[in-house]
Parts: sequence; structure tokens; C-alpha cells
Amino acid sequence: AAKDEGRNRFHYFTPSMQRYAKYRMRLIQDLRSAIADHEFELYYQPIVSLQGGLGLKAEALIRWRHPKRGLVSPIEFIAVAEETGLIIEIGNWVFQQAARQSALWRDRFGIEVQISINKSPVQFRDEGESINSWVNLLKTLNLTNNNICIEITEGLLLDGNSAISSKLTQYRDSGIQISLDDFGTGYSSLAYLKKFDIDFLKIDQSFTRNLDSNSDDFTLCEAIIVMAHKLGMKVIAEGVETDYQRKILANAGCDFGQGYLFSRPVPVEKFEQAFLVPVNTQNENCRADDSAV
Ligand code: C2E
Ligand code: MG
Ligand code: MG
Ligand code: MG
Repeated sequence: AAKDEGRNRFHYFTPSMQRYAKYRMRLIQDLRSAIADHEFELYYQPIVSLQGGLGLKAEALIRWRHPKRGLVSPIEFIAVAEETGLIIEIGNWVFQQAARQSALWRDRFGIEVQISINKSPVQFRDEGESINSWVNLLKTLNLTNNNICIEITEGLLLDGNSAISSKLTQYRDSGIQISLDDFGTGYSSLAYLKKFDIDFLKIDQSFTRNLDSNSDDFTLCEAIIVMAHKLGMKVIAEGVETDYQRKILANAGCDFGQGYLFSRPVPVEKFEQAFLVPVNTQNENCRADDSAV
């Protein structure tokens, strides 16, 4: 029987491993041409104030419009892009695209939308990375007043790498904010929270998913919010899907919410239709008001 099993395993695994290797090679080839062929797109998901404040934020989430496969989720290609280093080029594109979008919205709609981008640890560890080229683009576009926020994950801070800490400082000095994404899912060392200057904690959706005012998850959310505020950070809850969750989080003092309740990530035009009002319309309203007075 053991022999049979062994043989079965052999037959079962090898073709599937071959298939995976083939799939992966193909994916890498396709990723290589995807930037040049303009196959990436940014979708935007609003991050809304839960405390009645104004000011709209959005997270930029990459999508790959593959010529044969259709829309491909980042979950399918970010890891391979990281392993091959292609994430560096992709990440630069994401940044430039997001920065231009923020400037465009400001010019067209008269609204400053802070756009968050996800930045991979691989990008931070890249020694050839030029922060100057990012900062120069922001200066050219007049976007040095917290228009861009970089989302990082806990793992990056646990590196204990001083180059990373100095990069984070340089970003903040250039008017870029820092969010700690998926908070609570990494290695739970809290020491780095006092070591690094972080603007926002994003409570991971695994805590908000089953939120109920009597649950352990709620206790954790409440504690994270209190701690973050005492350390001078604002809190964003990810994965807010119901009005009930929104209310509980708002009552607990959570500053911002992000999730399907407000909107799924959507293409630029949809985001504009749903959340931005053209400057022209605003002017017309102003004129109407003026003449009424
Ligand atoms: P993330 O940064 O934690 O982004 C939030 C993810 O949660 C997004 O998945 C978003 O669509 C999803 N989400 C938002 N609200 C809800 C909700 O109410 N319910 C549920 N179930 N899900 C919600 P998405 O777009 O598939 O992105 C997955 C991950 O891929 C991101 O997680 C991020 O880690 C990575 N990613 C996306 N874009 C980029 C990028 O430009 N660069 C890098 N390095 N990573 C990216
Ligand atoms: Mg994120
Ligand atoms: Mg997240
Ligand atoms: Mg995530």
C-alpha cells in the first residue's frame, strides 16, 4: 500500500508541479511586457471619515488587464513580481500614476484627495532606489502636503534595518504620510510603534469582519484605537461591510473606514462619478448662491 501511495504521489504531484512551473514562467514573461503595453490600471477605493470630518482619501489598488485572461487580481501576481524584482518597476509606475491622479483631481475637481499606495518591502530594500525621483515628481506636481500616503506592513519594520527607518523619515520630511497596513496580523511586536513615525494604523479586516459589540474582536479594535490615539496615530478600519460595523467602530472612536459598505475598489471614472463633483458644477452652484443673496 505504501508503495502504491508513493507511486500515486509521484504521478499526482509531478505534473501539477510542472504545470505550476510553466504557469509561473508564463506569468513572469507576461509581467515583463505588461508595463510597456499599458496593461496595469489603478482602481480606487474610498477611505471615509467615521467622525463626520471632511476630506476624502482613497487607496489605489492595482489591477492587471491581461489581454487573454482579463482582469487579474494583485493576489495572483504581486508575490511573483516581488520574487523577480519586477515589483520595483511596477511600484514606480503605481506611484507615478497615483501622484498624477491626485494632481488631476485637484485641478479638475478642486479637491485634494489623499491617495494611499501599497509599497512592497522589496522596494524599500532596493538599494538603488531613488527617493529623490519620487520627491521631485511630487514637487513638480505641487503635491508635498500629505497628498500621498505609503502603506507598509509590519514585517518591514521588524527588519530593524536603519536604512528603512531613514527612508521612512525622508518620505515624511517630503510631505508623504505613512500607514501601517493589515495591523495586527504580523508578528505582534509593538516596540516599533514608538521607534517609527507612523501616521495611520489600518486595522486588518480579519478583526472587523465579525465585529459585534460583545466580541473579542471588538475588544481588540477598541484597544488598538485607544493605543493608536495615545501614540498620536489615526486609525482606519479595513473591511467595513455593514452599517452595524460602521456604527460600532465610529462609537469606539475609529477615525476612518474603508470597505464594501462605502464602495468596492472602482476604476477612475466610476470613482469620479460617485465621489467627486466637477469644478464647473461647483462654480454654477456658487453663482446661483451669489445671485440669491
Ligand atoms: P490591502 O492593501 O490590504 O488592500 C485591501 C484589500 O481588501 C483589497 O484587495 C480590497 O479590494 C479588499 N477589500 C476592501 N474592502 C473590503 C471589504 O469590505 N471586504 C473584503 N472582503 N475585502 C475588501 P485587493 O485589491 O485584491 O488587493 C489585495 C492586496 O494586494 C492588497 O491588500 C495589497 O497587499 C496588494 N496590492 C494591491 N495593489 C498593490 C500595489 O499597487 N502594490 C503592491 N505592492 N501591493 C498591492
Ligand atoms: Mg493596503
Ligand atoms: Mg490591508
Ligand atoms: Mg491585505
